Amino acid sequence: MESLNKFSLIAPCGMNCAICMHYLREKNKCPGCRGSDLNKPVTRVKCKIKTCEVFRDENNKFCSDCVDFPCEKLEHLNKRYKKKYNMSMIENLNYIKNFGMNNFSKHEKKKWTCSECGGTICVHKGCCFSCGKKY
Ligand SMILES: [Zn+2]
Repeated sequence: MESLNKFSLIAPCGMNCAICMHYLREKNKCPGCRGSDLNKPVTRVKCKIKTCEVFRDENNKFCSDCVDFPCEKLEHLNKRYKKKYNMSMIENLNYIKNFGMNNFSKHEKKKWTCSECGGTICVHKGCCFSCGKKY
């Protein structure tokens, strides 16, 4: 098993925290779902997925490690993100399952790097966080 440290920006639900507006911003920057709860938006601290009992077992790192995957909670979140931001946590988790974390990281980096300036594209804003180019 690859160490969790290396991919600590990938939340248990499959969200890539590196492309989240709360992570990208300078002020009150969120350290990611797996980071400390300090400075985090309250909706994240109380996240039903992150606090799911399946993660009491440290061997379970992602929702895809759960027998109920994908459960109703994850389906709900996934549906919202697909509709609103054109991104799927379930697809992310399946990608990790099939191709491994290293390939997923490369894939994500390519997908979310701005072709204009090399900055990071924010999934919530739908544009580059550095230069503002729309995607
Ligand atoms: Zn840019």
